[in-house]
Amino acid sequence: MGKRPNPEAQAQHVLNDLGLDSVPVNVERVAKLRGAKVRYSPFDEELSGMIHIKEGMPIILVNSLHHPNRQRFTIAHEVGHLELHRDMITAEVHVDKSFAIEFRGLRRDQQSGLGTVEVEIQANRFGAALLMPARILESELEGKQFDIDDEAPLEKIARKFKVSKQALEYRIRNLGLTAG
Ligand SMILES: [Zn+2]
Repeated sequence: MGKRPNPEAQAQHVLNDLGLDSVPVNVERVAKLRGAKVRYSPFDEELSGMIHIKEGMPIILVNSLHHPNRQRFTIAHEVGHLELHRDMITAEVHVDKSFAIEFRGLRRDQQSGLGTVEVEIQANRFGAALLMPARILESELEGKQFDIDDEAPLEKIARKFKVSKQALEYRIRNLGLTAG
C-alpha cells in the first residue's frame, strides 16, 4: 500500500476539482461526475449500501427505504471507497451495514466480511468531509455562541447541509469546533 489516505484532504480535493463550494452538496452528482452509477434498491434495514467496480464502471447501490439524509451519507461513504480504496472495490463487492448508526467504528460483531474497521473509518471521514466541508461549516458556526447541547441551531444547520443531526454533531466534535 502507498501513502496513508487523508480522507479530509481528498474529499476537499474532489469538491475543489468539481468546483462545488456550496451546501447542500449534490452528492449524487459528485458520484456521477467521479464516474459512478447510482442505483436505489429496497434492501433490509441494516444494509446501507454497497459499491463495486464492474468492467471499469463503479456502481453504487443505496437502500431506497432509508431516510434521504442517510442515503446521502451512504453515497458519500461509497464515493470515499471509490476515491480511497479503489483496489478493494475492484476485487470484490463491498457491502456496508449499519456504519451510519455506529459512527465511531463498527462493532466487532459487524465486521466480518465488511473489510477492516480502518477502511470504514476512512470512508466515514471522507463522507463527512464531503457533505460538511470544513470551511463552510466553520463559517456557518462562526460568531455564534455555539453549544452542542442546544438542539435548535444544530437542527437548522443539519437541514442546511441535508445531513442527520447525529452526523453533524460528530463532525463538529471531530473538527474540534466545540468544547462539548
Ligand atoms: Zn464501507
